[in-house]
Amino acid sequence: ERMLEIRQQNCFPMTMKVTFYKKPVFIHQGHMQWLWDVDGKRYLDLFAGVATVSVGHSHPKVTAAAERQLKRLWHTTNIYVYPTLHEYCEKLASNLPEPLKVVYLTNSGSEANDLAVMLARLHTGNFDIITFRGSYHGGSPQSTGLVSNHSYKYPVASSLGCTNTMCPDVFRGIWGGSHCRDSPVQTIRECSCAQGHCMAKDQYISQLRETFATSVPSRIAAFFGEPIQGVGGAVQYPKNYLKEAFELVRERGGLCIADEVQTGFGRTGSHMWGFQSHGVIPDIVTMAKGIANGFPMGAIVTTPEIAASFNKAVHFNTFGGNPVASAIASSVLDTVKEDGLQKNSLDVGTHLMTELAKLRDKYEIIGDVRGKGLMIGVEMVKDKASRDPLSPEVMSEIFEDVKDMGVLIGKGGIYGQTFRIKPPMCVTMDDADFFVAVFNKAVHNCMERR
Ligand code: PMP
Repeated sequence: ERMLEIRQQNCFPMTMKVTFYKKPVFIHQGHMQWLWDVDGKRYLDLFAGVATVSVGHSHPKVTAAAERQLKRLWHTTNIYVYPTLHEYCEKLASNLPEPLKVVYLTNSGSEANDLAVMLARLHTGNFDIITFRGSYHGGSPQSTGLVSNHSYKYPVASSLGCTNTMCPDVFRGIWGGSHCRDSPVQTIRECSCAQGHCMAKDQYISQLRETFATSVPSRIAAFFGEPIQGVGGAVQYPKNYLKEAFELVRERGGLCIADEVQTGFGRTGSHMWGFQSHGVIPDIVTMAKGIANGFPMGAIVTTPEIAASFNKAVHFNTFGGNPVASAIASSVLDTVKEDGLQKNSLDVGTHLMTELAKLRDKYEIIGDVRGKGLMIGVEMVKDKASRDPLSPEVMSEIFEDVKDMGVLIGKGGIYGQTFRIKPPMCVTMDDADFFVAVFNKAVHNCMERR
């Protein structure tokens, strides 16, 4: 009652009021993959605060590392040298391939992407930035200009590039796979491999070349790409697509930036970083979310040569590289390895996708199951023939039902038609089976109501 009262007071900004659920869920406590509400009801968390709680809610080892640092030192600013920060930067860089060795720490993914925009412009002397349709790169004025999904854009942004002078010029529409009806990405069913992304569809590569030839300026500062689109609904690219995009960008003098905010730290299972599945090495990698298991932090990692261009500007960030954040992030990196979470992501994720694919074959309204590791999208359609997105009302019914049965998942995609599953990477096979049973029941209930 008291919670509802607080909520009804106008002390929340609008964005905080918008909740996925009809009745708000008041979360009070968490442990590993579990959350409890104020009434003591337990939920299996398959959304992890949007792919952020990487190793588990209040993971004991990470919590202990945070406690130790809280007792020792909270803040200095990066004017001073302190070991926690420097050790962490070294550790993070050692997890990236050569020549990505220089680390800058921020407080969020948006800030990391803003910094990457600034660095790319300083380094190349060019201005334009390009991104893929369906991408999400942040909520700050600058990073919002990189986002092609209309609902996240400032009202001043036009559909082709942003007119807000705070925003970079953004050319979009290069890749539009956010809705399976018009997506050239094969579904798991059409594809002979288990992951659904092995197709080499030459026409998409030619389309990409064509778009670059006709719509992209001859000089650009950078290209941002998520190795798998997150907010866009676990959208994957055809084989060699990202590699080709990198080549086309480099021909125009631009830097290639991998936004690993969702895909980083082992979530995709096969590698530590999503870009490694595409056979490319970016010039800048941006990261956040899972980096510190929910503690605010972001980072960019780049090459010494590109980092040298920072000398052309003054850049300062009061909290970036905060000792507590660094201690937590350092422990997260250790925990991903010690707890075998990258492998667990691959094993549980593959099992989950196999089981969900069976439901896709059973139900007319499950259009596609895709993803990699524990970054999974289940795209819902009105029917398989039309592949039109399932209506928000029906999406919501299933979503509520899943929640009432004790599982929290996410929603995404341009039409809000894709359920997103990106749990803490410590989820088990049993958790996966529990969710599949719950989802089966929720979709079954939905079909009964129709
Ligand atoms: N990039 C990607 C791929 C994201 O998913 C997000 C957040 N959803 C961001 C950047 C922005 O991160 P933050 O919300 O921490 O600013």
